[in-house]
Amino acid sequence: MDFNLTPEQEAFRDEVRGFLDENLPPEDERDAMFPLRWSKLVREKRWVGFSWPEEVGGGGGNIMEQAILKEELASRRAPPLGSCIMGLAWVGPALIQYGTEEQKQRFIPDILDSKYQWCTGYSEPDIGSDLAALQCRGERRGDKYIVKGQKIWTSLAQWAKWMILLVRTDNDGRTKHEGITCLLVEMDSPGVTVAPIANMARQPFYAEVFFDEVEVPVENLLGEEGQGWQITIGALANERSGISEVSGLLWELDRLKELARASTRDGKPALEDARVRRRIAEYETRIAAMRFNGLRYLTKQIKGERVGSETSVNKLHTAYMEKYMAELAIELQGSYGCLAPGTSHAVQGGRWQKEAFTWATAVIGGGTPNIQRNIIAERILGLPRD
Ligand SMILES: Cc1cc2nc3c(=O)[nH]c(=O)nc-3n(C[C@H](O)[C@H](O)[C@H](O)COP(=O)(O)OP(=O)(O)OC[C@H]3O[C@@H](n4cnc5c(N)ncnc54)[C@H](O)[C@@H]3O)c2cc1C
Repeated sequence: MDFNLTPEQEAFRDEVRGFLDENLPPEDERDAMFPLRWSKLVREKRWVGFSWPEEVGGGGGNIMEQAILKEELASRRAPPLGSCIMGLAWVGPALIQYGTEEQKQRFIPDILDSKYQWCTGYSEPDIGSDLAALQCRGERRGDKYIVKGQKIWTSLAQWAKWMILLVRTDNDGRTKHEGITCLLVEMDSPGVTVAPIANMARQPFYAEVFFDEVEVPVENLLGEEGQGWQITIGALANERSGISEVSGLLWELDRLKELARASTRDGKPALEDARVRRRIAEYETRIAAMRFNGLRYLTKQIKGERVGSETSVNKLHTAYMEKYMAELAIELQGSYGCLAPGTSHAVQGGRWQKEAFTWATAVIGGGTPNIQRNIIAERILGLPRD
């Protein structure tokens, strides 16, 4: 296996580094308006949707260049490329693969310009891990679908203009995966009600969304009726590829080492304590494993092969890292560990407390660790079904 970059890839990496040196101030020097300026700059560079085809307004970059770009950005803690989080993560790729020409023209430029947010209507009360059992109904009547039912845990719903929604259009399929359809729904359609839910950090990032006979024009059907499961699997695998997360985690690990160096255990820097060292070494090893896994997925993508279940391995590592690195950091802080983020004596600005409050995002969102283990066991190791 050759880990070296080609001369062209090295030139691209140097271009990215040069741009970052010139345009990206260190984190503590960025003002509140910086993300906006940054979004414009990277859009002008055509780095938003960098690997999307040029015909739809993307950068036309190849997969390897995209990985280099994301790795460099993450290692400098750059803001995301565009603020349309779900639009860029999976709605856009799903539109590129399954959308009609009209849908692509209508939605993709706005996603690239981060004009508004998209939200994702998959989970329902009592239906999360077993997503294919979803019950929200979509009934075709003439040139409309009539949607009736409820979704829950819908991130960003109260700010989103559009939702990518899964509904059941047919109950007669041989399996529960059949008869699921994907619709694009405007959130201000009559009959849509959003009821925000706050997380334990009191951030109202999620919502219940109710659909009471909501009319969705048939031109907002994504793919074909009954193709919703296939579209979703592709979308979630997109979410799980994970190579760029490695640089972000390495950056966090450096902060953790700094903290261990500055904290004391038995009168000595905690970084000299064998148990602390062992835990940090374990995290470092996991990150290294994630990087090699990420490179393996990348190799498959470069060869034009589909990346699927194997991305669950990195999703599982990420969940572990988010939770356990924050736990160790708070433990190292002793009594200071109980201070709220942003308070005067909070260590490292309280970043680890913030992390501890929001770990569920990385751990549960997109599929819980148990579900990732099931995927690995059944689809990769060929063990009997759960
Ligand atoms: C931060 C965050 C953001 C989210 N954003 C969205 C969003 O935007 N849109 C959306 O649709 N959903 C969203 N979700 C919902 C998320 O996808 C679901 O919470 C998740 O899939 C788990 O489903 P559940 O909550 O119903 O838990 P359950 O499926 O009820 O699981 C409960 C527990 O049982 C375990 N379990 C379940 N089935 C099995 C099994 N077969 N084998 C072993 N263990 C099992 C699970 O691992 C878990 O520990 C979000 C969740 C979070 C936390």
